[in-house]
Amino acid sequence: MINIAIDGHVGSGKSTLAKGLAKKLGFKVLDTGAIYRGFACAFKDKGYTEINDATIEDFVKDAKVEIFFEGELQHVLVNSKDYTAFLREEEISLLSSKVSPYKVLREKVKQLQREFASKYNCIMEGRDIGTVVLPNADVKFFITASEVVRAERRYLQYKDKKDSPSFEEVLQDLRERDYRDEHREVAPLKPASDAIVVDTSNMTLEESIDYCLKTIKSLVKSKNM
Ligand code: C5P
Repeated sequence: MINIAIDGHVGSGKSTLAKGLAKKLGFKVLDTGAIYRGFACAFKDKGYTEINDATIEDFVKDAKVEIFFEGELQHVLVNSKDYTAFLREEEISLLSSKVSPYKVLREKVKQLQREFASKYNCIMEGRDIGTVVLPNADVKFFITASEVVRAERRYLQYKDKKDSPSFEEVLQDLRERDYRDEHREVAPLKPASDAIVVDTSNMTLEESIDYCLKTIKSLVKSKNM
């Protein structure tokens, strides 16, 4: 199987890039952030009042996660409940970044991620794909952009929704989540030593897709793509 890893900061455009590349290559995409978000929804549902080793361990020990696809839409189920409609809520963005540093939870997600990669030619996007989950991925990208550009992209996504956050709030949330991802002990966000770093601050989506596609084709030539 051909596996492409895409890691990067919040709002760097990695999900849109992954989808664009998958369309051109005929690959599947696994949005791994959505899995952490699904866990966050289920954790909240269970009514835990604190996030610590004990509550996470208690939660993870019998948590069962499943994914399936409806067209391009990736559904995430935890303990048979479909949380797909709730994954993008603001509260869940923050909660997912608070539960994701825990090793027991990451191990569970890693299992599912590796199974997926062994079954499909895929683009897997997240924070630790090139470094931890798929260290032997065929191509690894680390996508980033300046903080302000990333916050603007996020702000525009939320702008017309009810109770949308201000630009300052979006920027603050992005800084907080990046800080947590980069400074956690387990699987911190960083480029793999063999990752290609792509700064999309001054690139359109089409330009970043073209650039990554060319790179993939030149690096995976031997596999007849
Ligand atoms: O990418 P997305 O914003 O949907 O991810 C939600 C949260 O899940 C992130 O803030 C990050 O803390 C966590 N995450 C992670 N490892 C991944 C993907 C996401 O820790 N591979």
